[in-house]
Amino acid sequence: MARYTGADCRLCRREGIKLFLKGDRCYSDKCGVERRPYPPGMAGKRRPRDSEYRVQLREKQKTKRIYGLLEKQFHSYYEIANRQSGITGENLLRLLESRLDNVVYRLGFAKSRDEARQVVRHGHISVNGRRVDIPSYRVRPGDLVAVMPKAADLLVIKTALISSEKIEVPGWLEVDIEKLSGKVLSLPERGQIDAPVREQLIVELYSK
Ligand code: SF4
Repeated sequence: MARYTGADCRLCRREGIKLFLKGDRCYSDKCGVERRPYPPGMAGKRRPRDSEYRVQLREKQKTKRIYGLLEKQFHSYYEIANRQSGITGENLLRLLESRLDNVVYRLGFAKSRDEARQVVRHGHISVNGRRVDIPSYRVRPGDLVAVMPKAADLLVIKTALISSEKIEVPGWLEVDIEKLSGKVLSLPERGQIDAPVREQLIVELYSK
């Protein structure tokens, strides 16, 4: 599947906000946004005009980047969200949060969503006892997400567990560090999603 392969810190600098794409580095003074708090590129220090369209576009781009998705995939989530009952923006965030790679990251089994995607793709994660290697797999309430026994000693998992002390597991998930597993208690309410996103702006953009 296609994915962005450029420098992660450029994405944060473009959005002017920490998107936490690189694990430990994001919490250190090496963070690109803190070292160079202006957009990348030659025109970086010039501030562009904030038109309504631009604000909406940036909000969408930021959200895509937080969850590591490209346009086509992100837009298909929007279409599903739009067909669901309830508030479309909240539905969208709930769909993004219920991706397996996001859940693995939220549980602290990977340092970033990008790393979580690799962990899932390499077959190191099970859901309800069965190996699942699809990062976009959508978890449901009651699902048990676990690190496969053979992967428990992998360095990538061990270092993630150390880093995960910096990250709070959200209330809709319950982690068991001893067993390297986590349970999906429910799907998240908007207040349980800490992504710095104004989802209504994305809905307005796509509704044009
Ligand atoms: Fe973003 Fe992390 Fe890079 Fe900072 S270190 S700019 S938060 S990816």
